[in-house]
Formats: sequence, structure tokens, C-alpha cells
Amino acid sequence: MKAVQIVKPGELHIIEMEKPVIDETNNVLIRMTAAGICGSDRGIYHGTNAAATYPRVIGHEMVGVVEEVGPGVSRVKPGDRVIVDQVTACGTCYACRKGRPNVCGNLKVRGVHIDGGYRQWMAVPENDCYLLPDHISDVDAVLIEPTTIAIQCCARAEIEAEDTVLIMGAGALGSRILSVVKLHHPAKIIVADIDDAKLEAALKNGADAVIRSDREDVAQRAKELTDGYGPTLCIDAACVKGSLLSLLQAAGNAGRVMTMGFSTSPDEINQFVITSKELDVRGSRLQNRRFGEAVELVKNHAIDLSGEVSHTFSYLDAQAAFDFADNHANEVRKIVLTFDTEESK
Ligand code: MN
Repeated sequence: MKAVQIVKPGELHIIEMEKPVIDETNNVLIRMTAAGICGSDRGIYHGTNAAATYPRVIGHEMVGVVEEVGPGVSRVKPGDRVIVDQVTACGTCYACRKGRPNVCGNLKVRGVHIDGGYRQWMAVPENDCYLLPDHISDVDAVLIEPTTIAIQCCARAEIEAEDTVLIMGAGALGSRILSVVKLHHPAKIIVADIDDAKLEAALKNGADAVIRSDREDVAQRAKELTDGYGPTLCIDAACVKGSLLSLLQAAGNAGRVMTMGFSTSPDEINQFVITSKELDVRGSRLQNRRFGEAVELVKNHAIDLSGEVSHTFSYLDAQAAFDFADNHANEVRKIVLTFDTEESK
């Protein structure tokens, strides 16, 4: 079968690899139909994702059709459309015992530390498969994964109705976070980005106010929009140089600031901005068995994922897709690789 492998940073190849077979643990064989390109996948391609190991078949937003199941599998059957949880954990370390397998001490993320979904077939444990609601297409269903990331972020942030929320970044992750934040009915939602079209979409999708972060002083503007106090919850869905400091500066006293970035490039912050306001700065990584919750939200139409995917490419054209993402940063919302070519049937 064919797969998309990042051999080393900057080098993407379509490779031949052995088609997986099911065994006792990986007891569900899935024929892939769609897989999203995430900012973190682009980071692995460019060598800026600190977690990744090479060579790697990437892709962690993984949708497909069950082709074969092992003995004892009861939750899924051949023909079922599923999305796959990307987190695999040891189950015994401190983080796992605390119910936080997403930061397991022996964490193996599909598409990052072990091979992921940019391939024609994969075999995974039954418990990592989640049935898709009938009304959603395979391509749109890819966005259930970033929705789980948004659910995780809001849970880590302990978001409350009293919060005034500032989301930095209105791209694929920021827009997913906006939709989940909205479900908590906070007092105010402000979205900052450098792209007018993305800010317009944010306003349409429930933001109360927007900030052009390249033209306006984010901290000052956010304070004005929150009666001078500053947002009580700031979420960094942009994860670029300077974004964390602006959010620390914007946050109101006793507020929380969430980080989600994977860059290891140094960025300047200072202790006083945290200590003086006694801010809680919390990381939110991946997700902690949130797929069930995300699928329910889609099933109940609490979240609408249609129209979020901006471009699709065949997985065989993955190089073109990654190049396109590099050269069209502003118009790309979500690119999905599809596997509906003859040879994958
Ligand atoms: Mn992702």
C-alpha cells in the first residue's frame, strides 16, 4: 500500500509500505478515506515540531471505513465509518493514573511518534474508533479531531459563563475553539487575527468583537472591550512569536492564559506580568478521550462542521497540498487529503 512519509524535515515522499494486518491489540482494520492537514503536521514537515520523530507517516486527523475486525470486537463492524483517536498511552504512569493519558510519560501519538493516517490502511484498537454520525461527510468529519482539541482546551481552562474570553487566532484551531467556547455562553468572546476574512467569519460564528492583531495593540484593545479589566480567559490558538506575551499582558487579574503551541523557539516573557495578576498559565495538549463528546456535539447539531474545509487534495498529491498551505496561508482554513483513488479500493 502507499503512504505519505516525512523522511526528514523538508522531505516528503510517497512510499510503499506493507498493508497492516489486525492482531490482538490492533483489532480493527480501517481503509482510510480522509485525513486532515494540521498546523502540527506542517510543523513536522518543516522540522519545527519539537515532539516529532523521523521518518514518520504523519496525519492524526484520521477518518476511514472499517474493513475487517478481529474476534471479540463489538463496538464497530465492517462498513462502519469511524474517526480514530490519535493518543496512545501506557496507562500506568503518573499522568495516566491522574486520568491524563494525553500527557502520558510514554506518550505515543499517531502521526507524531508512531505512524499515523496518511496511508491507505491502518490497524488500531477498537477502543480508539468512534462511529461517525450519518449526516457528516468523511471530509468534514476530519474536523472532529480539532474539535476534541478545543474541548480539551476549554476543560483545562475551566471556562465559566462569567468569563470574558480572548481567542488569539481565527484559523482552523481558533475557529474550533470559538465554536466550543460559545457552547459555554461566556459573557464576551473576542477574537484576534491578522486576516479580515477570518475575523469576519469569527463574527458570523459568534464572536462579539474582533481585533486586528497586526494593526492594533491587542492587550490595550482587549482591555477596552472588557470595561478596562482585561479578559479573564485568554487562549493562544495562534502560537506565534509574541502571542503569549500579548495574552499575558491582556489578561485580567486572577485570569487564565492557555498555551497550545509546539514551537521551541525562545520567546520573551517576564515574571511580573504573571505574578502581578496571579495568572494561571496552563498548557493544553492533544485531548483526553474527548472524541465521544465531540461526536455527540456533531450528532446533536450543537456544532456544525460544514464549510470549514477549504481545500481537498488526493493523498498522492500531498507535496502539492503542503506547498499550497505554505504559499496560501491566509486563504487556507483546513486542507483534507482524500484517499478515493482507484488503487485504494
Ligand atoms: Mn490536529
